[in-house]
Amino acid sequence: MMLAKITLKPNKERPLLRRHPWVYATAVDRVDGKVYPGCTISIFSSEGQFIAKGSYSPRSQIRARALSWDESEVIDHAFFKRKIAKALALRQQWVNDTNAVRLIFGESDGLPGLIVDQYDQTLVCQFLFAGMEYWKDAIVAALKQLVPCVRIVERSDAAVRVREGLEPQVGCLEGDMPAEPVQVIECGVKYTVDVLEGHKTGFYIDQRDNRHLLASLAQGKTVLNMFCYTGGFSLAALRGGASHVTSVDSSGDALAMAKKQMDLNGFEPSRAEWIDEDAFAVLTRFRKEGRKFDVVVLDPPKFAPSASHLDKAVRAYKEINRAGMQLLNPNGLLLTFSCSGAMDAALFEKVIANAATEAMTHSGDKTMDFRLVKRLSSGFDHPLLVSFPEGDYLKGIMLQRI
Ligand code: SAH
Repeated sequence: MMLAKITLKPNKERPLLRRHPWVYATAVDRVDGKVYPGCTISIFSSEGQFIAKGSYSPRSQIRARALSWDESEVIDHAFFKRKIAKALALRQQWVNDTNAVRLIFGESDGLPGLIVDQYDQTLVCQFLFAGMEYWKDAIVAALKQLVPCVRIVERSDAAVRVREGLEPQVGCLEGDMPAEPVQVIECGVKYTVDVLEGHKTGFYIDQRDNRHLLASLAQGKTVLNMFCYTGGFSLAALRGGASHVTSVDSSGDALAMAKKQMDLNGFEPSRAEWIDEDAFAVLTRFRKEGRKFDVVVLDPPKFAPSASHLDKAVRAYKEINRAGMQLLNPNGLLLTFSCSGAMDAALFEKVIANAATEAMTHSGDKTMDFRLVKRLSSGFDHPLLVSFPEGDYLKGIMLQRI
């Protein structure tokens, strides 16, 4: 069957030749043949050289995403099964102590715009690109064959669907909706996950290694967890032996879920304090009250959803980090994160350095200084394609007050 064909404008083939999978609408010179959302197309340079096969998305600024650079490879059900099997094989190689795993991480697994997270026997999928929407049945069939599970939930309600011209979709693709939040266990801690209403697919799987790191250094420490959501870091710190954990979030629902997990894990309620309040207000209040902590975690929402929000985001990151640093005891640790894709690791580090300088100069304490102890990122199940730096959205720094 002849595929429809995209021809790029002159000199627009470079990123694709380097295996970056996105074709921007502005790079397309012309389209030949019948196209529709998600259809498979061949992509050619302006000089008529075959470059890749991909899926087409007529409404999106990212007009096509490449699936294969091999002209003889057929994009069919078997193609998706092969890709999924490959993604699973990477996860299976890893020895880990969890049943909450990202099985498919979009572009990084050669399946642009597809997210599949596993929570024990429940799979949760996001189809965030017209190409993946088109192949949904093939993807679900392959998942059913390859992953033992009782249900497959769809959580295609992320804002990026709109840019693809796709409606939000939430429901069950296989099995029944869970009557209760799904329970997972990670490094000895039980967490509950609301796969229907929770953020993303319900849980911040990407912070696993950092939760583990926190647990490993929490023994006997006081911890402040800002933007705690359902308490991922808080519970890890308690499991690690923290003497007391203060957690702050402005979502009452998230806090209610966090508190229930205290019982589930048998943690003494008096070891934890949950504050339903604006994080900026709490940081200011704690500073005025002179409260100090041994460890502060700052994992805020995406302050920069796109490059146009960057200036404002830089100011917000600087403000919360300066405030967080000022709450640290001597030798205290700050674990600070940014999940803004628009802010790269170098910029984030610069913001943290500026915040540290301000914290020092504001404090009047001539002995205060900070050192960067460790750079942090997401875990093994969020691999990064070398040709796709956009996948590197989660950046973190562990800083010590000296
Ligand atoms: N650290 C969490 C994920 C954070 S998601 C984890 O590891 O699971 C961001 C959280 O910030 C959300 O729960 C949201 O309710 C909360 N939030 C957003 N703006 C806030 C604000 N101004 N003050 C307090 N919490 C806020």
